[in-house]
Amino acid sequence: MVTVGVLSLQGAFREHLSMLASLGAETRKVTRPEHLEGLDSIVLPGGESSAMVRIAANVGLFPVLAERIRDGLPTFGTCAGLILLADRLTDDSLAGYDRLGGLDITVARNAYGSQRESFVAPLPVSGLDGDFHGTFIRAPQIVDVGGAEVLSTHGGLPVLVRSGSVWGGSFHPELGGDTRIHEMFLQTVGAAV
Ligand code: GLN
Repeated sequence: MVTVGVLSLQGAFREHLSMLASLGAETRKVTRPEHLEGLDSIVLPGGESSAMVRIAANVGLFPVLAERIRDGLPTFGTCAGLILLADRLTDDSLAGYDRLGGLDITVARNAYGSQRESFVAPLPVSGLDGDFHGTFIRAPQIVDVGGAEVLSTHGGLPVLVRSGSVWGGSFHPELGGDTRIHEMFLQTVGAAV
């Protein structure tokens, strides 16, 4: 069994924890650097990245986590979590706070519109038979991919990318009950699902 941490500072961490547990993973909430010990993988949920960077700064979590990610910890960032992983942002709204980096992409925060413009889109995803219905909520747009591999696009823009063992999605794969993207990610961690 693998132990998967979920960054639980803020946002949709409960939904990821229950989806991962339903797939047979041992799960752990991560709020402090010591919670990273012995983890096989980590998921960074959606929510509000500006809140996450502030809360994480109080406990010095992100410099330690960033190092683990650089050392190869399989990591999946969704929505706000994708913002944390992006090597580049189009604006300086999070300037002055540690993020994580690890995905060679450029991201524009909130570029899919406001909360009221949230939507669900059928997404063809490499490796999956049949579309995945992705929920976009004040979602970040991936406006440029450097070296990352694109696993899904919507309207011509990448919405799910991977760079080695670091995955990022603009949408919320933990909402809607379809576990297939979590399963794909867990398989790369070595979990039998
Ligand atoms: N707009 C949020 C941010 O900038 C992300 C939204 C989400 O995670 N659903 O952090």
